[in-house]
Amino acid sequence: MLFFRRGVSADPLLVREAATIEELDMKNVTALIAALEAELGADAVLTAESDLAPFTEDWRGRYKGPAAAVVQPSNTSQVSAVVRLCAAYGVPVLPQGGNTSLCAGAVPANVGLPPVIVNLTRMRRIRHIDAANGSMEVEAGCVLKTIQDAAAAEQRLYAVSLGAEGSCQIGGNLSTNAGGTAVLRYGNTRDNVLGLEVVLADGTVWNGLRALRKDNTGLDLKHLFIGTEGTLGIITAATLKLHPLPVQHALAWFAPVDPAAALHILGMFQAACGSRLSAFEMINRRQLELVVEQVPGRRNPLSELHEWHVLVELGDTHGGEEMAALMQQTLEHAAVAGLIHDAVLASNQTQRAALWEIRHSVSEANKKAGVGLTTDCAVPVSAVPLFIERATQAVHAIVPGLDILVVAHLGDGNAHFIPFFTFDAWRQLADRSAMANAMRRCVNDVAHELRGTFSAEHGVGQTGLPEMAHYKSAAELGLMRAVKNALDPHNLFNPGRLLP
Ligand SMILES: Cc1cc2nc3c(=O)[nH]c(=O)nc-3n(C[C@H](O)[C@H](O)[C@H](O)COP(=O)(O)OP(=O)(O)OC[C@H]3O[C@@H](n4cnc5c(N)ncnc54)[C@H](O)[C@@H]3O)c2cc1C
Repeated sequence: MLFFRRGVSADPLLVREAATIEELDMKNVTALIAALEAELGADAVLTAESDLAPFTEDWRGRYKGPAAAVVQPSNTSQVSAVVRLCAAYGVPVLPQGGNTSLCAGAVPANVGLPPVIVNLTRMRRIRHIDAANGSMEVEAGCVLKTIQDAAAAEQRLYAVSLGAEGSCQIGGNLSTNAGGTAVLRYGNTRDNVLGLEVVLADGTVWNGLRALRKDNTGLDLKHLFIGTEGTLGIITAATLKLHPLPVQHALAWFAPVDPAAALHILGMFQAACGSRLSAFEMINRRQLELVVEQVPGRRNPLSELHEWHVLVELGDTHGGEEMAALMQQTLEHAAVAGLIHDAVLASNQTQRAALWEIRHSVSEANKKAGVGLTTDCAVPVSAVPLFIERATQAVHAIVPGLDILVVAHLGDGNAHFIPFFTFDAWRQLADRSAMANAMRRCVNDVAHELRGTFSAEHGVGQTGLPEMAHYKSAAELGLMRAVKNALDPHNLFNPGRLLP
C-alpha cells in the first residue's frame, strides 16, 4: 500500500497534530480499501506502488501525485458503491479515463488527501446503436476510436476526432468538452451528445440517457457535467449524436504566405464549400520540422519547407470528383491571388492518411524533442494572425529568439502557441517553474486582450488553476462555486481542480 504524508511543520505542536491526522488517515484508508475490495473484488483495487504508477503520472511525465488506490469498476452500480464508500470514509475521488489530459487533469496533485482514482477503463461496452435515430449509447470507458469505428460500421459518423483518439475515453472527452480537428463542421464534444448517465456525490445514479433532439423540460442537466472535469460527478455512460458518414473526401496540404493569408483562404473555402469544409488546421515551420525529425515515417509533403502549412479537408456523403475539383479550384484562386506558395492534393486514401498522420503527430514529436509550454488559447477567428504576432513578441521579450511552435485549429480560432525549449536549455534554467508561468501568462494575456480564453479545449486541470484565478471574474467564479456547493457539498470530486 502507498503510504502518504501530510506536510509536517517545524512547530512541535503541529508535528504532533500532523502525525495524529496521518494515523487517522491511514486507518481510514486501510478500512476503505478493505471495503472497496469487498465491493469490487481484489483484482479491481490496485494499491501497490508499481501498479499505481501508470495512473498517477500524466501523459507527458511532468506531473505525479500520490493516490490512496486505483479502482476499476465494471458497471455503474459499482461506481455508485465506490462513491458512497469514499464519501463515508471522507476520501476524495478522482475520476480518470485514458489519462491523456494535457493539463494534468487526471492525475493527483500533491496537496490534500490522496484520492481514490476511479479509472473507467473496464466500462467499455457499446450498449446500443440506433442508426435511424442517429444515436449510440456507450459506457464512459469506451475509447474514442472504438466509438468512431462502431459508428462507421453502421454508416454513421461520430464526429469528434483528436490525436489521442486511440487511448482517450468518451468519459474524458465529455468531462473536458474535447475539441479536436472537426469542430469547424461538427462542433465540440458538447455538440455531439444527447444524454448522460452520471453518478452523483452521494452515490445516486442520474439516468439522463435520452436520445432526443428536442427536450425543453427545464434545465438541460447534462451540460453541468460536460466540461467540468469530473468536479460534479462521474459520467458512467452517454448517448452520442451520430451523423451520416461522409464517404467522399478531398484533402490538401498547402503553404499560405502567412497566417493572414490562411485566414483569407479559410473564408474562400467557406464561401465555396459551405458545410463540406470539415477541417482547416495550421502549423508553423518549426512544428513541421519537429514532426519530421522525431516521428519515423513522417515527411514534408511539399518540396520546400515554408513558414506556414495548412491541412484542409472537404467531406461529404457523395460527389468525390466534384469535391476534388472544388478543392483544386479554390486553391488555384488562392494561388492567383498570391496567397499561397505551394500546394499538394491527396489523390488516394494512403496519401490522405499520411497527411493526417503529420497533423496527429505533433504532440508525440514535441514530447520527444524537448519541453513545450503548451497554451490553448482561443480568440475570435479573425484575430488569430494578430494573436500569433503579439504572442511571438511577448515571448521573445522574455527569451529573445526562443523557438515557437504553432498548432492552430484555425477554423475555430484556437491556437496552441507553444514556447519551446530543448531539454538542455530547459535544464539550464535557474527557475523553471517561474519561466513556465511567465511564458504561459504572457501568451494568455495576449489572448485576454483580444477577448479570448486561455483554455479552448484542453480544460483547466492543474496547470490552468492560476489562470482561472487571474482571468475569471469574481461573479463567474462565484457562480461556479455555487454550482459545486450544490452538487458536491463535501468537495468529494476532484478537490483542488478547476476552481481555484
Ligand atoms: C496526442 C494528444 C493529442 C490531443 N489532442 C487534443 C485535441 O486535439 N483536442 C482536445 O480537446 N484535446 C486533445 N488532447 C487532450 C486529451 O486527449 C483530451 O482532453 C481528452 O478528452 C481526455 O480524455 P481522457 O479519457 O484521456 O481523460 P483523462 O485525461 O483521463 O481525464 C481528463 C479529465 O476528465 C475527468 N474525467 C475523465 N473521465 C471521467 C468520467 N468518466 N467522469 C467524470 N470525469 C472524468 C478527469 O478527472 C480529468 O479531470 C490530446 C492529448 C494527446 C495526448
